[in-house]
Amino acid sequence: MDVMSRIIPTLNQKIWLEHDIKRIEQLYDGGKIMQFPALQTVYNLPSKMLFPYLQLKSCLQHTRPQTLHDEPLQELSTFEKICTNALPPKKVISLCYKALIHSQTNIKITYKHAWHKELNQTISEEHWTKAYSSHRGITSCTNHLELQRKILYRWYLVPERIHKIWPQSSTNQCWRCKQQVGTMLHTWWSCDIIQPFWRKVGHLIQQITNTNVEPTIEMCLLYIPPENLTRAQWATTYHILISTAMLIARLWKSPSAPNFSTLLNQINTNWQYESMLVHQRGLNKSMAKANLVWKEYWEANKAAHTLPNPKNNSPEAPVTTDTLK
Ligand SMILES: [Zn+2]
Repeated sequence: MDVMSRIIPTLNQKIWLEHDIKRIEQLYDGGKIMQFPALQTVYNLPSKMLFPYLQLKSCLQHTRPQTLHDEPLQELSTFEKICTNALPPKKVISLCYKALIHSQTNIKITYKHAWHKELNQTISEEHWTKAYSSHRGITSCTNHLELQRKILYRWYLVPERIHKIWPQSSTNQCWRCKQQVGTMLHTWWSCDIIQPFWRKVGHLIQQITNTNVEPTIEMCLLYIPPENLTRAQWATTYHILISTAMLIARLWKSPSAPNFSTLLNQINTNWQYESMLVHQRGLNKSMAKANLVWKEYWEANKAAHTLPNPKNNSPEAPVTTDTLK
């Protein structure tokens, strides 16, 4: 059991020892892990031991035998130590607060690590901080922030991840191009079918902000504002990017890229809501300027991008790589 605690940091050895189970081999019969009812009969286990049993069984089924010897001892966090204690210590709430307040240096933030690995570069802590705060004063919509965070935290189930979870019933190939592995980066950014759409989005940002800002992954997916954009220009860019992400997420398993006219209408709808709130709460200078810049663009271009009335139930024309070029 002591060896298993190296693999399962939260393993409560005490509850097993109370029922005289000291060694892993006691769980086996004829080379196979015994079923829970059989163990209950032999060791008089209560029903509440079912979950610890399943936890142990799952671990034993998926652990290579040598791992039991190779795995270095993993130190439990303060909170884990409190939880695995047979009796809760005194002042347990104060101890929990203390554990929360004092950040632990050994916490490994997996989404950061995954982005670094996928981008093959390290994003500085300063840029991560900018990514977390780039929405402030620019959007009042929690859906926008939620979407931004879902991408940042890699919440979306892309084909590669689904295939790892269910290898028998899924493929790791991209849903659009059906040629490359559908990683997070490929699905959101580098797929040959979605890239022309992103190029159009980049061109739109340059046109409206009147800059030559490059549409990078850091800006478009992680929402790290480029150094050379003013606050008003970033507000404009943010609303274009969040509308783009909304459309990509809405057409998640679609084989084609979103329609550019749909994107412009989506941006306009977002701005209509934002401008209502801006007027209600008082004008924010950057937001008012960004709103004005958008309105001018929309007035000049809306005739070419008016969508058919949804009441007619006309399906949106799918956009392919060719039509976007
Ligand atoms: Zn693809």
